[in-house]
Amino acid sequence: TIGMIAIDARGHISGGTSTNGARNKIPGRVGDSPIPGSGAYVDKFVGGAVATGDGDLMMRFLPALVTVEGMRAGFSPRKAAEIAIFRVSQYYPEFMGAVVAINMAGEYGAACHGIDSFPYSVASVETDGVEVKTASCLG
Ligand code: ASP
Repeated sequence: TIGMIAIDARGHISGGTSTNGARNKIPGRVGDSPIPGSGAYVDKFVGGAVATGDGDLMMRFLPALVTVEGMRAGFSPRKAAEIAIFRVSQYYPEFMGAVVAINMAGEYGAACHGIDSFPYSVASVETDGVEVKTASCLG
């Protein structure tokens, strides 16, 4: 999956995901990526989140929505993403996935599970091109 969130200079936010279906290329499968709240979710008053991983598990928990709602409740993007990832891992300890999030202040973070670490890219007017960040995974 490629997940992306963009915020422009006027504060317009947009998010989206594309997917190759990973291991689940079943004809007719929709997967998690196009489901609002699962693959991606944004709110102009809060921020946005995108998710990747075991879509058939993650789509039951709407991790992008849970992350945005966590930020709305006051959590940092990273903590909100951790809450969303932890929610899935409580039910599926073996699942593999990650969430990347940003709030409208431009703070960002990520959380992941089932791998050691998760690389994601950040670009802004303050960065010199694209910076690659790495999130340590919860489990
Ligand atoms: N979430 C995607 C899917 O299950 C796969 C991925 O993230 O790579 O279709």
